[in-house]
Amino acid sequence: MITEIEAAREGTITPAVMRVAASEGIDPGDLSGRVADGRVVVMKRGEVALGIGEGLVTKVNVNIGTSPVCCNPEEEVEKARIAQSFGAHTISDLSMGGDISLMRKRILSATTLPITTVPTYQAAVETGLENLTDEVLFRNLMEQAEQGISSFVLHMVSERLLDQVRHSPRIMGVVSKGGSMMAAHMVLRRCENPYLARFDELLEILHRYDIVLSLGNTMRSGCIHDARDGPQVMEMEENIALAVRAHEAGVQVILEGVGGHVHPRNIPGYIGDYKEKTRFPLFVAGPLPTDIAMGYDHIAGSVGASLAAGAGADYLCYLTPAEHMGLPTPDQVREGLVAFMIAAHIGDLIKYGRDDRDEALALRRAALDWKGQAALALDPERACVRNPEGGPCTMCGSFCAIRVMREFCSGEGSLAGSDKPR
Ligand code: SF4
Repeated sequence: MITEIEAAREGTITPAVMRVAASEGIDPGDLSGRVADGRVVVMKRGEVALGIGEGLVTKVNVNIGTSPVCCNPEEEVEKARIAQSFGAHTISDLSMGGDISLMRKRILSATTLPITTVPTYQAAVETGLENLTDEVLFRNLMEQAEQGISSFVLHMVSERLLDQVRHSPRIMGVVSKGGSMMAAHMVLRRCENPYLARFDELLEILHRYDIVLSLGNTMRSGCIHDARDGPQVMEMEENIALAVRAHEAGVQVILEGVGGHVHPRNIPGYIGDYKEKTRFPLFVAGPLPTDIAMGYDHIAGSVGASLAAGAGADYLCYLTPAEHMGLPTPDQVREGLVAFMIAAHIGDLIKYGRDDRDEALALRRAALDWKGQAALALDPERACVRNPEGGPCTMCGSFCAIRVMREFCSGEGSLAGSDKPR
């Protein structure tokens, strides 16, 4: 099978590239060039194609899935439906409880969005960390590839990196679940990470199904204190080298980096550094610009994500109000998603300066057109709550500034504002 990268290298514009170009409003030839050199990946699922990377709208991923201690498959399906209906671009099924294969099947049938998984999770849960073998890891990966997964997150922590983190003065150590599983496997078996030791074999599998490889951010910082330390810099360098190998083999690749907790002062600089060192799309979890927002980490995270996206991050992984505390409820999934859609939009305003939708909404607001405003809002359902039918809202009533200016200052030029869409 020829992959999107290989088709683009040959100068063939694939149906998937055509679809992404149409949805992004860009030239298919330009887009194909970016796919050819790895600046954009095209995540596919059936007829759905999603572009992530340079010059494209910032995308948002929603994590869902059962845990070993909280397993309600119905609720996870509901979360998947909420994610799709409220505008997520991708869903990651991170299930670790119950029948994991069945859970994945149910999420696949409830959605049409590209689905990402961390295959290590299922392998570790079903076999136990003590019994995990390379064969189990690769067998699981193959099964998920055949099931139609669009992207795999794989944690490439190396022995060298593990040694580096052992000697680092981190407060939180390693906070990546997939990364800690690989580390435990390497320590128990006294071996190199099998995904690294068998990287060429891994690439063959990904190539066969044109699955996007997302190189996991094992060394992301669990608190601001730990950001941008030796292990993080080493992981960035190692992952960039792996990304180059994957791209040369015709496998689409995304780098995860600058995730976790990062001081707000440093977020743009760290993103800029990644972007200077590599052209591959950058996926960022959070980042959280403070450690003390428990219960509101979706808000803190969306502030960090706005800065990250504005500085060049291409793809954001949402956080919910339940971050650091537990599995989110369906309502918390919605809250987290909308917070990160706001962040992605603010990021795009900074990156590209486009504000057409903002201006269109402002015109409807100036006209006291509530339905028109709601239709342009990121969460139209929430924007409709308590809306008056027309005229002022309950904030100012008859002293509505917009109406006062219109009634008493009309003819005063710009003072009265415009109530006509341009
Ligand atoms: S009533 Fe006040 S808050 Fe409501 S639309 Fe008018 S100016 Fe805005």
